[in-house]
Amino acid sequence: MDAKASSVMEKITSLAKRRGFIFQGSEIYGGYQGFWDYGPAGVEMKNNIKKEWWKYTVYDREDVVGIDAAIIMNPTVWEKSGHLKAFTDPLVECKVCHKRVRADNEEAVADHEKTHKDKKDIWTEPKTFNLMTEVLLGTTEPKEKSYLRGEITQGAFVDFRNVVDSTRVRIPFGIAQIGKAFRNEITPGNLTFRSREFEQMELEYFVKPDEEDSKKIFEYWKEKRKRWYEDLGIDPKKLRFHDHEPEKRAHYAKYATDLEYEAPFGWSEFEGIHHRGDFDLGNHNLSYRDNLTGEEYTPWVIETSGGVDRAMLFFLIDAYREDGERIYLKLNPKIAPYKVAVFPLLANKPELLAKAKEIYKNLKQKLNVVWDDRGNIGKRYFAQDEIGTPWCVTVDFESLNDATVTVRDRDSAKQERIAIDNLTEYFQNKLAA
Ligand code: ATP
Repeated sequence: MDAKASSVMEKITSLAKRRGFIFQGSEIYGGYQGFWDYGPAGVEMKNNIKKEWWKYTVYDREDVVGIDAAIIMNPTVWEKSGHLKAFTDPLVECKVCHKRVRADNEEAVADHEKTHKDKKDIWTEPKTFNLMTEVLLGTTEPKEKSYLRGEITQGAFVDFRNVVDSTRVRIPFGIAQIGKAFRNEITPGNLTFRSREFEQMELEYFVKPDEEDSKKIFEYWKEKRKRWYEDLGIDPKKLRFHDHEPEKRAHYAKYATDLEYEAPFGWSEFEGIHHRGDFDLGNHNLSYRDNLTGEEYTPWVIETSGGVDRAMLFFLIDAYREDGERIYLKLNPKIAPYKVAVFPLLANKPELLAKAKEIYKNLKQKLNVVWDDRGNIGKRYFAQDEIGTPWCVTVDFESLNDATVTVRDRDSAKQERIAIDNLTEYFQNKLAA
């Protein structure tokens, strides 16, 4: 990473910590590589991202249902899915200092070679490492070896028959899921970009085996996924598809593409959209019977698999703005941690405090609102800008006389007077716009 890019990442990392978005996991004990905690602002934003995804993928449609499968599954699942054999990354080790990096990460390889400029032939041959995280279950020896799921995908396949039998879905239909996955990543890094514990949001969309139709459905989901990120504010110029060449795709994949974002550390995968044919249901010997036509077949699967943590990181990076002294996060209000901040102009005036608290409590019934009465008004604006709160409400002495407040807009920093009675509607309209 060049100096400019690493300074952007440093700024984001530092803002994420000071404003309560992302903390290093177990920080008081020196941290734990590849594990992160989400703070008070972070958990709100992450939940908003998940809510928006669920709304778009499940609630706004009639052909998708959700599940929440267990993190630990019968190990046979991983045997059948091929993960115990094939879920690997190639790794090379530096013969000089024993640092290991992914053999396919050209940037990391080149960066590391710079540290041993005088030496040649520093790398070992690539070795493959299994990414599955083992766990031992049971109270008596020998304990049973199992795995933390390396991807949430398998849940949708293993539950396929139960979903078909217990609901009214008919092909084509999708199973959506959001949940944690774990990988023994060799080189975790770039904040949460590559973590050992992370969250995925995935759709497995089951279709009838048909080359032409399934290709159309694949293209449909490709565009739909890109639009989701754009609608939530990602700069379209920083998004692109990276189609996998036939020779680079998994042997079963008919088509595969990565939706990539131009991060400070280079174009990086946001989400994978894959046409997986009948590979997955076939692995588990599952098929589908159409109740109306009596046809029986193994459905094909189009998968959209995105990372919640990567989405959040890229939303933060994309929203980061510096305007002179001012730093603000231009987050779409739908995913901003809080929609509105409410403060009394002065914290030591009981009448202002009481009025501001009343407004805060009223707004809180409808919106995610945050209270702030620390420091002076300038500092509060500064803090809320960095958190990405779209609107700040200030209760001043005029408010006590004319029942209006100042509403300040995050992006323009402009202020206007709004009647207290109209506030909820005012913000709801803005959010719906
Ligand atoms: P990469 O090549 O970057 O390791 P991948 O191709 O292995 O990613 P998939 O298996 O397709 O990733 O997983 C789907 C999505 O899950 C990714 O697009 C990403 O958003 C997320 N994801 C995968 N691995 C991680 C990780 N270690 N940390 C955070 N998110 C991850």
